[in-house]
Amino acid sequence: MNDMIKKLTHPEPRNGILDIEAYVPGKSSALGSGKTYKLSSNETPLGPSPKAVEAFRSAAAELAYYPDGAATRLRVAIARQFGLDPARIVCGNGSDDLLHLLAGAYVGPGDEGIFTEHGFLVYRIAILAAGGVPVVAPETRYTANVDAILERVTERTRIVFIANPNNPTGTYIPFEEIKRLHASLPLSTLLVLDAAYAEYVRMNDYSPGLELASTYENVVMTRTFSKIHGLAAARIGWVYAPARVCDALNRIRGPFNLNSAAIEAGIAAIEDSEHVAKSVAHNAKWLKWLTAEIVKLGYTVTPSVANFILIHFQNQIGKSAMDADTYLSQRGLVLRYVGSYGLPDCLRLTVGTEESNRLVVAALADFAAEHTSGRNL
Ligand SMILES: *Cc1c(COP(=O)(O)O)cnc(C)c1O
Repeated sequence: MNDMIKKLTHPEPRNGILDIEAYVPGKSSALGSGKTYKLSSNETPLGPSPKAVEAFRSAAAELAYYPDGAATRLRVAIARQFGLDPARIVCGNGSDDLLHLLAGAYVGPGDEGIFTEHGFLVYRIAILAAGGVPVVAPETRYTANVDAILERVTERTRIVFIANPNNPTGTYIPFEEIKRLHASLPLSTLLVLDAAYAEYVRMNDYSPGLELASTYENVVMTRTFSKIHGLAAARIGWVYAPARVCDALNRIRGPFNLNSAAIEAGIAAIEDSEHVAKSVAHNAKWLKWLTAEIVKLGYTVTPSVANFILIHFQNQIGKSAMDADTYLSQRGLVLRYVGSYGLPDCLRLTVGTEESNRLVVAALADFAAEHTSGRNL
């Protein structure tokens, strides 16, 4: 052994790992002592389908046995719902798992991965973890800009991540734009369409991108059970991908990356279309209401097609988003401060129950009023 190695007192992670800023999840506790409303992680206020809960519970009887490593019944259930080929679905322990696997499979040291200015933070982490170089494309009015992405493509670009709609901005780009992006990318660059909020979108020009992922060798679409299906704790995601991509992912994924309870809950959830429809209707109603009411109070809100909204505080002179966060938290309302997304003037609010939606609007009204009357917090 050489002397240099003898001097080391502990194993060091490889280059770059300690430069990664860990993902910080939304807070779950408030500053006040009363009831807490968690509106910080885009979870559904309606919870999962009761059938999914029942299926999850029943799985307890089989805890001694390994799950089906290929999650076949779940893939078949998803495929049936969307008219897909189950062989081209790979499930993940949440879609985060799949985003990491995609970067791990396609990005090597020195390779570049592109995502947008206020894009989902997991993309940066996944690219860095793979040893790659994150490349950020500026957005236009908090919306992905296809030209800005294309301008940053080089011969080292191996992957482009785009969340459509995006979190935390809630904005989307039309399918025509996604197609234009794809048409100008080299065939060797993988385009990842993260459609975590697809079910909530009610726009005629929107598509999660299944058509592209079905047709081209370099497009995949990821989905999750964490949002509309209300199963965030169960950790279930899936990707629809070309056979070659599935083959690569199946080689490197954990052999049992979905547990049995998640598989059973997922099957029950995807088959409960009624519950999904109820969640979509609830969201459509309250997204519209929250946006209108908060705008009426004088705040700027970025128009959202998802189940959350981005509220801007810079117009409320002397009151920062952090002040608002503290104020709301004292009333049990836990929103998401999104400074780490390059949005230090904003809070992200998840559409909640009628009760929490009304409480948020009332609290924001009081917050604005205390400012105008010049009183201190
Ligand atoms: C919530 C979210 C996901 C889903 O993550 P899971 O790991 O499936 O819980 C993926 N992408 C975006 C943009 C999200 O906001």
